[in-house]
Amino acid sequence: MRILIAEDDRLLGEAIHAGLKQNGFKTEWVQDGLAAWNALQSEGFSALVLDLGLPKLAGLDLLRRLRAGKSALPVLILTARDTAKDIVSGLDSGADDYLVKPFDLGELSARLRALVRRAAGNSAPLLECGSLRIDPAGRSVDYEGRSVELSAREFSLLHELVLNAGKVLSRAQLESRIYAWGEEVESNALEVHIHHLRRKLAPNLIRTVRGVGYIIPK
Ligand code: CA
Repeated sequence: MRILIAEDDRLLGEAIHAGLKQNGFKTEWVQDGLAAWNALQSEGFSALVLDLGLPKLAGLDLLRRLRAGKSALPVLILTARDTAKDIVSGLDSGADDYLVKPFDLGELSARLRALVRRAAGNSAPLLECGSLRIDPAGRSVDYEGRSVELSAREFSLLHELVLNAGKVLSRAQLESRIYAWGEEVESNALEVHIHHLRRKLAPNLIRTVRGVGYIIPK
């Protein structure tokens, strides 16, 4: 799950960036509204954490632009101004949730997991797909009732495929969702992770769609 953080306060931005990473998210952090808008033009974010008071393009304007462009990206707004008015205009402009600063990073993580899972059409906290069960909060996986040890990268990859079960994800889509910007990626790294997942889970769980990508059927 790759999360974009738009926050111009350095200390807070750094804290959210590091805290979400620790909780198993891939995160990118930008410090103004225009940079956030540009970042969102590339695919691969599961949610946006949006400060309302941003330079260059205000949080609410960015949000309205996103929704005017029919983006369904889950957005959680951060506001220091805990007036009902800010929260109401944020939600009415298309935000899905909000937190008032100062907030708890554990709560932010849990809210993001809930938003992403609801955006994928699941309201239960455990993701189930056939004999596979994924607990995004505990980052654990069960297959046919046995618990399976996965590396952090394998977990992220499997999580993306299950969140999008029934849809083919291209190699580029998967790479953009499990690696951070500028991270060095070996050309066959994705295939190696897929190979390990098949070995640890089941050989035919993840299907290869030649020339297109990978899919876990629903
Ligand atoms: Ca701000």
